[in-house]
This record gives sequence, C-alpha cells and structure tokens, in this order.
Amino acid sequence: MEKKDIKWGEIGFEYMPTDLRFVSHFKDGAWDDGTLTTDATVTMTECAGVLQYSQSCFEGLKAYTTEDGRIVAFRPDLNAARMADSCRRLEMPVFPEDKFVEAVVSVVKANDGYVPPYGSGATLYIRPYMFGEDAVIGVKPASQYQFRIFCTPVGPYFKGGVKPITIRVCDYDRAAPHGTGNIKAGLNYAMSLFPIMDAHRKGFDENMYLDAATRTKVEETGGANFLFVTKDGKVVTPKSDSILPSITRRSLMYVAKEYLGLETEERPVYFDEVKDFAECGLCGTAAVISPVGCINDHGKEIRFPSGMEKMGPITQKLYDTLTGIQMGRLEAPEGWIKVIEEA
Ligand SMILES: *Cc1c(COP(=O)(O)O)cnc(C)c1O
Repeated sequence: MEKKDIKWGEIGFEYMPTDLRFVSHFKDGAWDDGTLTTDATVTMTECAGVLQYSQSCFEGLKAYTTEDGRIVAFRPDLNAARMADSCRRLEMPVFPEDKFVEAVVSVVKANDGYVPPYGSGATLYIRPYMFGEDAVIGVKPASQYQFRIFCTPVGPYFKGGVKPITIRVCDYDRAAPHGTGNIKAGLNYAMSLFPIMDAHRKGFDENMYLDAATRTKVEETGGANFLFVTKDGKVVTPKSDSILPSITRRSLMYVAKEYLGLETEERPVYFDEVKDFAECGLCGTAAVISPVGCINDHGKEIRFPSGMEKMGPITQKLYDTLTGIQMGRLEAPEGWIKVIEEA
C-alpha cells in the first residue's frame, strides 16, 4: 500500500473521487455478484425511478487507521442492517447484509492508499447507496436497481478545535408519525434543505426538530441524534419511532453505561425539560459528537452550563471513549471493529 499524496490535515468534507468503487445490479429479481470499477459516473434512462420518484436510500460509515496501524471500519454490520430496513420501507430489494459488509471491505482495500494515517484526524468516509434505475412513469417501484459504494477521504470534522454550536427550534417538521423518519432515505434530506439553509441565513448552525404530531417532544436534527446529560450525570436520548436510529448514538449509550458506569435512559424527551439539562450534544458518524452550547426557541435562549467554549465534561468523556475504541486505543466490545487490513 502506498499512501496518496494528500495533505490530510487540510481536506474538508467534500467528495474526492478515489480509484475504485463497488457496483452491483439488480435485474430479473436477483443481484449480480458485483464488481469494482474505475468508472465514477452513472448513466441511466431519463425516466429512472430515482430521478422521478426519489426511490433511493444510503448509508454512511468510516474507515480509519488505528494506533497500531490496522485499517478498520466501525460496526459496518449495523449499516447493512439499517440499509435493509430502508430498502424494505421503500420497496427496494435488500442487498444481502453479509455481502454488504464484504463490499465495504473490498472498497476500502481497493482504496487503501486513501485511508488517512493515524493521528491525522482525517478518515475515509464510505458511502453505500441504492437507487431505482429503470423507467417508471406510473407511480410504482422500479424493477432494476444499482447498489454502489464509493469512498472519499474527509478531513477532521472540527478544524482548530471543537466549538459548541447554536441551534434553533425549527418550525418545519422533519418526519411524520409513521412516515420515513426512521430510515435513511434521500427524500428525508431533500425536504430538509430549505430549513437548514434558512437556519444558516439566520445565523444558526442546525435545526432542532420537534415531533410533528404535538410539537412538544425533541426528535433530532437534520442528520444527527440528540444526547443530553442531566445535572446529576444521567445520559438521556429521545425515543421516537420517527428518529433515524444513529449507530453513533447507540454506541455512545452503550459506552456511557458499560465503560463509564453512567445511568442511561432512552425515553420521550419533552422540549420543556431541555432547559434543565447540563449538557447537550449531536451524534452521528461525521463528527461523533458536536456539542450544543445554545438552543434558540423563537428568540428565547437556552444556554447550557457547559458554555460556548468547550464540550461538557461528560460529553467529552463519551467522545474520548468512543473515539478511543474506534482508534484502537481502548478495547472494543466484541464485534464493533471490522479489521480490513492488518498492520
Ligand atoms: C445518518 C443519520 C444520523 C446519524 O447516524 P449514524 O449512524 O450515527 O451516522 C442521524 N440522523 C439522521 C437523520 C441521519 O440520516
């Protein structure tokens, strides 16, 4: 493996094509074996299901170099299972979960020169996705699909140190009850673009979405789940059927309980109680945890005691422990680390 000549500390979160990507086609009711290809483009009919009726879903995970020089991915089996759930909800064919993990491994191996070195802060972001490929003009599922995985190196999420962000309570809804909020569908992101740009135009970093039915309970942001810490050190995360089940959040809740000995609760979280929490963070693959310093509710500010300078102490411990597990500095729970290349 020869590392590519990339300034790892300087890259951002942008697409940079790598050498090879995985492609498999679904046709006549079956997936083919799939292959790696150098072709980074997709050509299809103008009437493709994905172009007309947004039949698509995706996943996101990372590979990185551990302290002892191995290349690993974090819990890819959970991405496989979640994508299977997304596919079932969108009438798309499930890509077999074991084959999904094999394909992730093959893509990372084929692009190992793009896996950033340990300590650079950069990682290799892996994007599996699926879409309806053949022509549909009446509203119905496509009959042909592509499952693809590309990867792209991404820089450290927090350049120049972690700074708590300010979010606003959003007047738009992210997900309807019994809708598609709990799957990773592209359509959930299309409709979030206006609210997020609107938030940015008004000086906020993110949107806090409340439950669409009653607007009293905290759901999540456009792309990350919430974690709260109570004043007596309990870690709380909202429970709702319309939240996307973040793998980072589920891992952090496990770490809180099993590594840090903290009490944890997954339960409905009312917006009214948010003002009483000591710490707040957003969790997802990209940042692991982004600390939230301030929530703006139509001009009324909730400022967490952890402040606007750094993460709260428990958020920091959660962050350090999970990234320690990911980077191989701490022993991982059974099955969390998929070794792709030995040192
Ligand atoms: C992907 C995603 C997350 C984060 O999930 P991870 O598995 O932790 O990356 C959270 N919320 C939404 C809406 C998402 O699409």
